[in-house]
Amino acid sequence: MKAAWIILLSIFMSGSQIINTKVIAHRGAWKNTNVPENSIAALQHAIALKCYGSEFDVHLSADSVPFVLHDHSIQGIYIEKTNTAELSNIKLSNGEALPTLESYLLAGKNQNQTRLILEIKTSQLGKARSLALTKKCVELVNKVGVASITDYIAFDFDVCLEVKKLAPKAHVQYLNGDKTPEQLGAAGLDGFDYHFSVLQKNESWLADAHQRKLSTNAWTVNDETMMQWLIDRNVEMITTNEPEKLIRLLNK
Ligand code: MG
Repeated sequence: MKAAWIILLSIFMSGSQIINTKVIAHRGAWKNTNVPENSIAALQHAIALKCYGSEFDVHLSADSVPFVLHDHSIQGIYIEKTNTAELSNIKLSNGEALPTLESYLLAGKNQNQTRLILEIKTSQLGKARSLALTKKCVELVNKVGVASITDYIAFDFDVCLEVKKLAPKAHVQYLNGDKTPEQLGAAGLDGFDYHFSVLQKNESWLADAHQRKLSTNAWTVNDETMMQWLIDRNVEMITTNEPEKLIRLLNK
């Protein structure tokens, strides 16, 4: 009974809904675990930490196989102009093979604690390649059977719209920071994942998005003061290289 009163009192005092900010490990939990970012090991650490989500980046090989990597090239090899046979020989610093999207999704399957936050990278070879990657990603997510635990993010607005067309039930957040919540809602997207500086400049966007039932996410927040600034404004998710720090802050 006492607990119920405390909850009612906190709702009254906050003047709005209470949101428990969720932790998303940016490129997995790699920084404090000494594994490469975007590796399957980093995903497994994010799952072990019970993060709400683990983010990763995807590019398309020359022969149209999606690989998980942040940069456009690795060890001097340009992903978009290289075939799978050659890319499969690349080893990350922990000895792991450069993950294909399929192997990565399989590693994230069979658990429903940590969502797979799939960033579709913008192709440097043109819009058609970005859209081809989008189609491949949605197909693989369905094939592996992880649609119910996968969310999508992208800087290219057309890519976001394409995901919604191919997978209307998928949760899609836009990354580029140049659309208002009203514009995102009108386009049928589910929310934003914006750099924290965009939200500092446009502080009303958080409350505006919540009113429109859009999800809110901020990247890449590694500083405790900034984390707290966002938590105080009811941000729904924070994407961070320091998931352990954010978890500690939220449990204080
Ligand atoms: Mg990313």
